[in-house]
Amino acid sequence: MTHTARIPLLDLVTPHQELESELLAVAKKAFATAGFIGGPMVDEFEREFAAFCNTKYCVGVNSGTDALRFAFLAAGVAPGDIVVTVPHTFIATTEAISQAGARIAFVDIDEETYTMAPEKLRDYLENACDFDQWRGKLIDRASRGVVSAVVPVHLYGQTADMDPILELAKKYNLVVIEDACQAHGAEYFSKNDGVWKKAGSMGHAAAFSFYPGKNLGACGEAGAVTTNDGAMAKKLRIIRDHGQSKKYYHDMEGYNGRLDAVQAGWLTVKLRHLGAWNEARRSLAHRYHQLFAEANGSVVTPREATWTRGVYHLYVVRVQDREALQSHLAAAGIGTGIHYPIPVHQQKAYQHLWYKAGDFPVTERVAREIVSLPMYPQLLPSQQDEVASKVKEFVGAKAVAAR
Ligand SMILES: *Cc1c(COP(=O)(O)O)cnc(C)c1O
Repeated sequence: MTHTARIPLLDLVTPHQELESELLAVAKKAFATAGFIGGPMVDEFEREFAAFCNTKYCVGVNSGTDALRFAFLAAGVAPGDIVVTVPHTFIATTEAISQAGARIAFVDIDEETYTMAPEKLRDYLENACDFDQWRGKLIDRASRGVVSAVVPVHLYGQTADMDPILELAKKYNLVVIEDACQAHGAEYFSKNDGVWKKAGSMGHAAAFSFYPGKNLGACGEAGAVTTNDGAMAKKLRIIRDHGQSKKYYHDMEGYNGRLDAVQAGWLTVKLRHLGAWNEARRSLAHRYHQLFAEANGSVVTPREATWTRGVYHLYVVRVQDREALQSHLAAAGIGTGIHYPIPVHQQKAYQHLWYKAGDFPVTERVAREIVSLPMYPQLLPSQQDEVASKVKEFVGAKAVAAR
């Protein structure tokens, strides 16, 4: 769909054509030194991405999924522990929990921000768990597992409401790992601290993905963990590299989860453009908001809370009959997507957890109505006008038919 649509959901070709000579220079440098794994290009990217996120450390790894998994392991999430997250996310969030040996607990999302609802987190922690004074740990009453971590997902480029989540985590001794895989550069205003904070700098650690379609994308697979905790960063460097503290001295079993040098070099080139790209996404998003303002609420646009500056990884609207809208747009050569059509708790992969329809009603309702419209920094206003008018044509015709 991305390749055939006249106005694609996402255009990955144009930015690579624009940066071609700089990107080729990176590849040549890698060939000249044959330093393909680790080395100065990785160090440079880690330094620059940490600075971009306002964190002390960045540890490059080979995907966002590994970033999450390694963050859980380095944070001390133990086998059998419970990690709390939302069902409205990409499955990597929960795969990483399971693959770290932990168990998943879901709490529902907020209907306006599509991110973790702090009051639902509170409800789970206070009404489904007991605090074990002696161990200083929260215990899930049903499974008897220790609740050790919470993963807010900054979905679509908007941060979760972190102040109340961090307060609850502190109160109940939970580690917070941000899933910032869709939120490179997003900001959150912390009322508690009176400052704007970058996604990836608020929890104990955060996971980023540089999958090609993300706001900062590699030319292949890549990811990173950011943290302000030096001991955590050190552990992450060991975990990503077969548990080695130095070559062939293995302190533990680790993983092959390093960041390729050439990907790091490409990411460094692209990172210089990320600020401008994010600004372009923000102004396109505001333009979409305006274009849909006259649709009388039949197109529900993303709501940017006053405490967030989103980076619009995706521009997701809600409409009735979204499959028909998708066909209407596809016929006009306009690409769309659904992120995501089936909530994680209803995926076949999690049948064994015995969740049922209605367990997370907000997620389930949202999942039926969402559709992602074309959004990328190079999208032209004239193309946006066309997308908006086709969407409005669809909802207008539906309104007439209903009368
Ligand atoms: C992309 C993504 C991931 C996984 O990243 P990969 O680099 O593809 O492993 C995890 N969580 C969310 C929310 C994502 O969007």
